[in-house]
Amino acid sequence: MASYTPMIQQYLRVKADYQDAFLFFRLGDFYEMFFEDAIKASQVLEITLTSRDGGGKERIPMCGVPYHSAPNYIDQLIEKGFKVAICEQVEDPKQTKGVVKREVVQLITPGTVMETKGLSDKQNNFLTSITHFEDETFGLAYADLSTGELHTTVINGPVQQLVNEVYSIGAKEIVVSEKFPPDLVQMIKERMVTTCSYEEVTDIPMEFDQIVKNLEQEKLQMSVGRLLHYLKKTQKRSLDHLQPARFFELDQSMKIDLFSKRNLELTETIRSKGKKGSLLWLLDQTVTAMGGRLLKQWVDRPLINPALIEQRHDMVETLINEYFTRQEIRELLKEVYDLERLAGRVAFGNVNARDLVQLRKSLSQIPHLKAMVEKLPIENASILDNMDECEELTTLLHDSLIEQPSLSVKEGNMMKDGFHEELDKYRDARRNGKTWIAELEKRERDLTGIRSLKIGYNRIFGYYIEITKANISSLPEGRYERKQTLANAERYITEELKEKETLILEAEEKIVALEYELFLKLREEVKVYIPRLQKLAKAVSEIDVLQCFATISEDRYYTRPSFNDERKVYITEGRHPVVEKVMDANEYVPNDTWMDKENEMLLITGPNMSGKSTYMRQVALTAILAQIGCFVPAKEASLPIFDQIFTRIGAADDLISGQSTFMVEMLEARNAIVYATQNSLILFDEIGRGTSTYDGMALAQALIEYIHDKIGAKTLFSTHYHELTSLDEELKKLKNIHVSVVEQNGKVVFLHKMKEGPADKSYGIHVAELAELPKELITRAQIILEKLESQPKSEPVEVAATKEVQSIDQDPLAQLSFFAEDKDKKQVDKQSKSEKAALEKLKKLELLETTPLEALNKLYEIQKLLKVKS
Ligand code: ADP
Ligand code: MG
Repeated sequence: MASYTPMIQQYLRVKADYQDAFLFFRLGDFYEMFFEDAIKASQVLEITLTSRDGGGKERIPMCGVPYHSAPNYIDQLIEKGFKVAICEQVEDPKQTKGVVKREVVQLITPGTVMETKGLSDKQNNFLTSITHFEDETFGLAYADLSTGELHTTVINGPVQQLVNEVYSIGAKEIVVSEKFPPDLVQMIKERMVTTCSYEEVTDIPMEFDQIVKNLEQEKLQMSVGRLLHYLKKTQKRSLDHLQPARFFELDQSMKIDLFSKRNLELTETIRSKGKKGSLLWLLDQTVTAMGGRLLKQWVDRPLINPALIEQRHDMVETLINEYFTRQEIRELLKEVYDLERLAGRVAFGNVNARDLVQLRKSLSQIPHLKAMVEKLPIENASILDNMDECEELTTLLHDSLIEQPSLSVKEGNMMKDGFHEELDKYRDARRNGKTWIAELEKRERDLTGIRSLKIGYNRIFGYYIEITKANISSLPEGRYERKQTLANAERYITEELKEKETLILEAEEKIVALEYELFLKLREEVKVYIPRLQKLAKAVSEIDVLQCFATISEDRYYTRPSFNDERKVYITEGRHPVVEKVMDANEYVPNDTWMDKENEMLLITGPNMSGKSTYMRQVALTAILAQIGCFVPAKEASLPIFDQIFTRIGAADDLISGQSTFMVEMLEARNAIVYATQNSLILFDEIGRGTSTYDGMALAQALIEYIHDKIGAKTLFSTHYHELTSLDEELKKLKNIHVSVVEQNGKVVFLHKMKEGPADKSYGIHVAELAELPKELITRAQIILEKLESQPKSEPVEVAATKEVQSIDQDPLAQLSFFAEDKDKKQVDKQSKSEKAALEKLKKLELLETTPLEALNKLYEIQKLLKVKS
């Protein structure tokens, strides 16, 4: 180290404290990176790697980005989950000898980034701290630095619950202790892209007393403490806008675990992981970014308190009925800027005058908006109380700022005339000076008779009088002092002109400085309003989400659900909200759902692609929509309040994780079985698919029996095991339903209509046809099927044949030894045997539950057996 230049030594000292971040080291107009950082950054950012002599034996790898384009590069790094430490020169290079002092002024991390393209307006960016306590509980605290909101809770349940929560928060970064179990971090990272950071200190920093004043539990305080320390450490700036921590209990809302959220595609789709196609996407008719964020929070946590739900339904109903008021509210909301994030930027001191003009514009909508909400024929004090017009602030902003201030706060042109006396004086001086110059120009033209005489200005010479060469002869000798000669003109000055110039320029300078000063003061004054603005933001986002529910409910013909205490699910003409939307009008076939104490479970059978999965999800989504306070896609709906929803998909259908092992399927099923209550809703979609037929069937049956006897949760169970449909004889609360199918001209048509009773016919070949398997193959399969169906059954043969098939199935060697036998003697025998085996295989084929690909494979095997004879 000793041989390095002082600057590199300084670099290494700083870097030692920021091992896990890219260190952006300010050198003049560039941020430079050295050593490993440089090599890695040049790859990630695709910028040129160079090197530099740093005094050591070898040249030091180096790369850099220009100061002005740094934000773009920082974005890229953050989005990839890295951290960036910004190291600035903290003293004036002109005033120091030797190396300029440099310090890290901010550590930008995925969970604390404020301004990036990756940060969607309608999504929160939550930094999340997790604290692991000795009694195996977890403290959770998360904050969105851009909006200042902070939430906290304690998780008493299993680690799954922790992972679920972290997932639904969508934490881009978690903060834990070094002692936190690494396998848990691993578990979280397996399910989502998140950066892990460490912070040991958990007491509450003095200045944040107010934030935790409502928190009594020590566990909560510690979690919030860890979060605050990490924020302090990384941000190194004012965090005044952080709001008092809001404590919530997990069992105050409907629990939907990670798998279910994904399976139901609540906020993102399974395939693309994007919002488009999800329930959130369908619902999002919010006008403001704040409303968009709140909507996501509501979808993530449906309510379970009937009174609170009814309150939302009441508002939605009113807003539907009051069409014009709602339209007016929507129009007003369009003019409301993101107050929450704006408050955050005010706290950080990085708003400009234009932002404050936006704020003024937003605030000036509020009285009108409030009047509209008041006009609604419904009591809604909770919203109105928070709808604080911040009148004084509106007035202040109105009096101080012009309509279109300049973007930079250091160029003047922000403040209104009349706002500040001294400023007015300087402006007068500048204006007077300019008028005086205009008058001078006129006077001199008259006196000299030179019509083209003009007064101009440039930065180097200041004000000058310009006379074209052609006119110089008319100029009285010695009238002006010559300053500059151009190709076809001469420029002059006069004593008087210079005097005025000084006055004007001085005034200009003073104006810019004073406006800057006034602006900073104004910004400080706005800061005081942050808590009030945040409260207002809450009211605005709430009314936005409610109008969103009203709009979507009206547009898509949803109805207001009612709730019953008898655990009844009565849905008439229910629809799947998203599938319905992406279909052409009226294509979607509505279906009823009737479940009560006598019918706790529905066993659903029907061919592939007939609509089983859609039907099941439609019930779950209806329940969720109802409990977030929206209306539901049905003609009529009476529902219980569900405490939890579990959705599980058989591994063969699980395209989500790529880890579609049977183990995962069973783990997920176990979770549902263990935590479901009689107030829960369970959807099991083709569970047991990931293993061999008998295994799977046995497990499926055992699951059904267990839920039926021990849990009593409302359950929809779709299955391809026909055999299970006879369970209704034993299990009194189980009802068979099936999707009806008709054949038209030898082709199968799915009606997507649920009927009582089990499905009675297989349509595997038709499904294969739909899947566009080769015509030849389909025809062949039909012939084989007909032959099979026309053959009389003979028990003994069947048993023998079955044995044969099994031996071939199980052991390829058995086939070989089969061929190895005396050919002549056995030839005939063998032919009939393999034919029988083929037929048996065909007979055994459960076409209904065979995927097209499986069918193809099976057909290939069968053909192989038949070809043996030739
Ligand atoms: P399954 O689970 O029985 O294999 P799906 O529920 O996946 O079938 O449905 C297959 C397709 O059928 C869906 O993608 C959808 O396009 C269509 N579908 C399902 N239900 C309906 C319905 N009620 N009305 C119209 N089309 C439907
Ligand atoms: Mg399905």
